[in-house]
Amino acid sequence: MDKKIENVVLNQIINQHLKPYIKQIDEEAYYPKEFLSAVGKGGFFTSNFLQKEDVRCREIYIIEETAKYCMTSAFTIWCHLAALASFRLSNNPYINNHLLPLFESGDVLAGTGLSNAIKYYAGLERIRLTAKRTDGGYTISGSLPSVSNLDNDHWFVIFASLNENQRIICTLPVNVEGLILESKTNYIGLNGSATYACFFNNVFIPDKWVISEEADEFIPKVRPTLALYQIPLGIGVSQAAIESIEKGHIKNKEGNKLIKPQLIDLINKLQIVRNRTYEYARDEDLRSKGKEILLTRLDIAKLTLEVVHAEMLYSGGQAYLQGSDTFRRLRESYFLVNLSPTIMQLETLC
Ligand SMILES: Cc1cc2nc3c(=O)[nH]c(=O)nc-3n(C[C@H](O)[C@H](O)[C@H](O)COP(=O)(O)OP(=O)(O)OC[C@H]3O[C@@H](n4cnc5c(N)ncnc54)[C@H](O)[C@@H]3O)c2cc1C
Repeated sequence: MDKKIENVVLNQIINQHLKPYIKQIDEEAYYPKEFLSAVGKGGFFTSNFLQKEDVRCREIYIIEETAKYCMTSAFTIWCHLAALASFRLSNNPYINNHLLPLFESGDVLAGTGLSNAIKYYAGLERIRLTAKRTDGGYTISGSLPSVSNLDNDHWFVIFASLNENQRIICTLPVNVEGLILESKTNYIGLNGSATYACFFNNVFIPDKWVISEEADEFIPKVRPTLALYQIPLGIGVSQAAIESIEKGHIKNKEGNKLIKPQLIDLINKLQIVRNRTYEYARDEDLRSKGKEILLTRLDIAKLTLEVVHAEMLYSGGQAYLQGSDTFRRLRESYFLVNLSPTIMQLETLC
């Protein structure tokens, strides 16, 4: 599909399936499943006949466009695309031939429970799931505190320890025997992200659901994509905040002269981050840009906080009303601080 037509189609999907539900998603923990399915049906998850750089740019753009209206929904898209990134790197023929097409069409949606892996390899956390070899597969036990984008017909990606020397990455459907999910909706934002604590009691994973038996080699390959795709969450929210400041600016040009930071500085900083993000996405070897991606991920987390805070200052009393979009963006922006790799983790890495 031509890029311009693609953008028009995406905006139609956002207008029809997302905009009417933003308040419900934010205030009533409404999960935007119809929106995700519509994005899938629109062909936005498929990688068929495309260069991987073009796939990355398109996927970043989808997250960015969605985050302009609702970071919760953009994060659920991140969850699905992050799972796709893992499936696409798998050498398992069952995953390539049978599962990947279902996820790429959006007929089946997926989550990604890999923050434990990110923290484990950063030396911050023990491995939360253990795997035991059994006939034709593995059994998994343990628990994950938060995995998003889960519903009764969804799948998700996990990381588990087999022994001291070996760790594996697998996928599984939510409705398997031995898995219990507990809904989490008491966050300050993101409650429509369908986030669950997941408890595994000897859950059987057949070999055909194993993405990689060499997680130590697999995680460094997928990690740059996971971090890169988090950056447009902040770009979209920041763009929306800047647009809102611009609208209000016309009414109070004199008063706004005194507020710091000035709008033009925020616009320029965001443009630099955005340009870098798409530049990395176009790099053939994403792994070689690992450090730069993490630095940019840190920059966008800090910049988004600065921009949404500025929006609160520029908007004045309007922003302090219940249900204000400005305050929603302020709450949403703190998710970027707490999503792995968190600001605390990134500060040490970078
Ligand atoms: C709404 C929501 C949805 C989520 N969805 C998912 C999901 O879909 N999938 C998923 O896998 N996870 C998910 N998470 C988890 C998320 O990605 C983070 O892992 C989690 O929020 C990080 O919390 P933490 O307190 O463990 O922070 P971390 O910063 O990761 O800290 C871990 C521990 O290490 C310490 N620490 C961190 N950095 C350093 C440092 N540099 N030096 C010394 N000590 C350090 C911290 O103090 C803490 O004790 C979700 C979380 C939320 C809130």
